[in-house]
Amino acid sequence: MIDTKPHSGSLFMVVAPSGAGKSTLVNALLAQEPEIKLSISFTTRPPRPGEQHGREYYFTTVEDFLQRRESGEFLESAEVHGNYYGTSRLLIEQAMAIGTDVLLEIDWQGAQQVRKQFPHAVGVFILPPSIAALEERLKKRGQDDHLVITRRILAAGGEIAHAPEFEYVIINQEFATALSELTAIVKATRCRFAQQAARNTYLFAQLGIHANAS
Ligand code: 5GP
Repeated sequence: MIDTKPHSGSLFMVVAPSGAGKSTLVNALLAQEPEIKLSISFTTRPPRPGEQHGREYYFTTVEDFLQRRESGEFLESAEVHGNYYGTSRLLIEQAMAIGTDVLLEIDWQGAQQVRKQFPHAVGVFILPPSIAALEERLKKRGQDDHLVITRRILAAGGEIAHAPEFEYVIINQEFATALSELTAIVKATRCRFAQQAARNTYLFAQLGIHANAS
């Protein structure tokens, strides 16, 4: 189903190659804007040290994941770096229905699938300032073994090639600047005509604004 209804809530998709600093940026955004709901994905990847089931991800088996996918539980799903990842359809549809802003931290394949169903979704691509910086961040993180890091570095070029599919690009060179740019995108999206009209129906009617929000 394609959802073209004007919602008061917005759907944000934040995409980046591993090591671009996406999760740190997203977590800082959510600390500033706690009313944005972060979608917790399902994954077959094993948890990293410190990760908790239900906080970073719902960690599951390949068998369980494929069963959920088969029964249509996922809004989108993809294989990334040899593991499966998927977004719960129910959570997103419920949040959108009540006008909550939702943020998806997904890969470019997932973003393409979401856009087909939610053409108004806002895509943000986070770029590292250089390939060297990306490698350094991945190694410094120290949470993945050598093979996983090498695999992710090799995949980075292919992921970055999808940046032109996104409305917004943030270069994460200086964290504070990148965060203020991401916050600005969220605030600007909330001021889109369709979002304002859906959020302020009474005021718009009172002011005689009847334009067709799309
Ligand atoms: P990580 O294993 O580092 O947590 O994530 C690896 C990649 O999978 C990242 O690019 C991340 O954004 C992506 N990813 C995480 N959750 C999902 C999801 O639900 N769907 C898709 N398509 N990608 C996801």
